[in-house]
Amino acid sequence: MKIDTLLAGLDAVSDGAGGLVPPLRLAVTHAAQPGAPASGYARSGAEGETLLETILARLDGAATALAFASGASAALAALALVPPGREVLLEAEGYYEFRGILARATALRGLSLRLVDMTDLEAVAGMLSSGRTGLVWAEFPGNPLWQVPDLPRLSGLAHQAGALLLVDATAATPHHIRPLSLGADVALHSATKFLNGHGDVLAGALALAESAARPALMQHRTDTGTTLAPFGEWLLLRGLRTFVLRMERASATAARLAGWLADRGLQVHYPGLPDHPQHALACAQYTNGFGPVLSFRMGSAARADAVVAAVQVFRRATSLGSTESLIERRAETEGAGTRCPEDLIRLSIGLEAAEDLIGDLQGALDTLPKG
Ligand SMILES: *Cc1c(COP(=O)(O)O)cnc(C)c1O
Repeated sequence: MKIDTLLAGLDAVSDGAGGLVPPLRLAVTHAAQPGAPASGYARSGAEGETLLETILARLDGAATALAFASGASAALAALALVPPGREVLLEAEGYYEFRGILARATALRGLSLRLVDMTDLEAVAGMLSSGRTGLVWAEFPGNPLWQVPDLPRLSGLAHQAGALLLVDATAATPHHIRPLSLGADVALHSATKFLNGHGDVLAGALALAESAARPALMQHRTDTGTTLAPFGEWLLLRGLRTFVLRMERASATAARLAGWLADRGLQVHYPGLPDHPQHALACAQYTNGFGPVLSFRMGSAARADAVVAAVQVFRRATSLGSTESLIERRAETEGAGTRCPEDLIRLSIGLEAAEDLIGDLQGALDTLPKG
């Protein structure tokens, strides 16, 4: 069955009373059967969780998937896959929060962490070492410049050194990238973003190429109390029903906006544009277009701030993956220590009419003094 069909019908789940949508079951515990030990406490194995994880695994073509209370908690769980004392190589040009979160978390666990540009395979190869490297942590595409790593080659390098490859695919989603089919061992998603798609749930997921690590990850989830609560599961299942449609629309609009901004002579970062530094790699790995996020450059922080202040349809907010389109001057959001260029505007495209978004940016750009 195609993913579209699976999601539209949620595999014909029933609520037990003939209803065609999954039920919302909030019970934390369940009555013990006579003669049997009490079971069914909500830490894991809830009905909504099982259904959600089945769907998430299908989306990524995974052996198994686990849901978590947030993308960050899914990320921290992935560290449980790294043997003690080993090193994690993290994408240097990726999601800025993870540089801090993973630096603290690896230090607490006695792991080490080094940053490397994952598009520089020579640099990656030079840092990999058998017996030392435990995990290579890539991001597809890297946020907010949307660089595209070569996943099959990264996977080859990581495996040669006895390390795992994890790919944070939050910004591309399984609609546009299937990391496991390109050699990754783990795909990470902040389901808070496009998977849920409505900006009203914090959730995360790990999809695994092999199910052997599932028990360890479930144990970690129990130990850290990072189970996704039933209402979050239910909302995420609801959001997923329209996932494919939403991605088709947002990604088509993003491609149109990228072309429109480039035609105005602005420097645009979008993997679908022929002048993107890894456009050929993007064509080889992306599916169904090039995704719903893009960035562009205004030449100065002041000009970028002026555009962000002038738009009316775009909402000025951080994050990505909701129904409304979001705009931010990314370096301002990231704050001190940012690696992001000061003049970069990041866009997350939602479901508005492309004409309205283009008109909005045109209006904002036209307020600027020429130059
Ligand atoms: C938002 C985000 C995360 C973190 O997910 P949360 O659900 O906010 O914890 C991880 N990776 C990327 C690329 C993100 O955009």
